[in-house]
Amino acid sequence: MAYISNIMTRTFILSLALVILLSSCGSVKKTTTSSKLFSKEESRLILSGKVKEPMRVLLITNPKDSVLLRSKSTNIKPNINNKVLQHFTSRLYHTVRDSATSGVGIAAPQVGILKKIIWVQRFDKKEEPFEVYFNPEIKKYSEMKQEVVEACLSIPNTREMMNNRSYAIFLEYDDKKGKHKCEMIEAFTAVIFQHEIDHLDGILFIDHLEKETKESIKHKL
Ligand SMILES: [Zn+2]
Repeated sequence: MAYISNIMTRTFILSLALVILLSSCGSVKKTTTSSKLFSKEESRLILSGKVKEPMRVLLITNPKDSVLLRSKSTNIKPNINNKVLQHFTSRLYHTVRDSATSGVGIAAPQVGILKKIIWVQRFDKKEEPFEVYFNPEIKKYSEMKQEVVEACLSIPNTREMMNNRSYAIFLEYDDKKGKHKCEMIEAFTAVIFQHEIDHLDGILFIDHLEKETKESIKHKL
């Protein structure tokens, strides 16, 4: 997700459902459906550049890229001893941090790797660090929405005001050591998670726009 000038209307009333959910966090057990890491082709792509070298960001305007951007990603078992995985998470980080893109979040399928891995900038934490998440899943969405302007590294020259992103989400994920965690996330950071996790299902932010707005931006895509 690309950086946006933070136009956001928000109110600070959380839905009761999310507050109740907080108490159930610790007891949830994760079932990772696949422990398979990368295919030969994926490994080749990952290792085709140095560990700090950004990867090419796929664009919706390119028909071949578009097929991958519209595909679903699969779970991956985090493993700090797997060199290809470590190489990939580093390259994905350097892709979102690339000065040419100024992103605040990125998902693995945006560089052609169909695995459930995302990097998100945590604007809700001190010093706003980038963090990596494996197999992230949103278990609950608040009914309360927020308005925010969204853009995407894979959709050139397009930014649109969205009004249907939830203000808060309840997230489950695996950290880089494979530890399963749960967390409630609010405000703009929650939008980044919703945007990036959509990518793992082949969904782009423009899919959430009203029909009329979609028609009006069609010529750009
Ligand atoms: Zn995006």
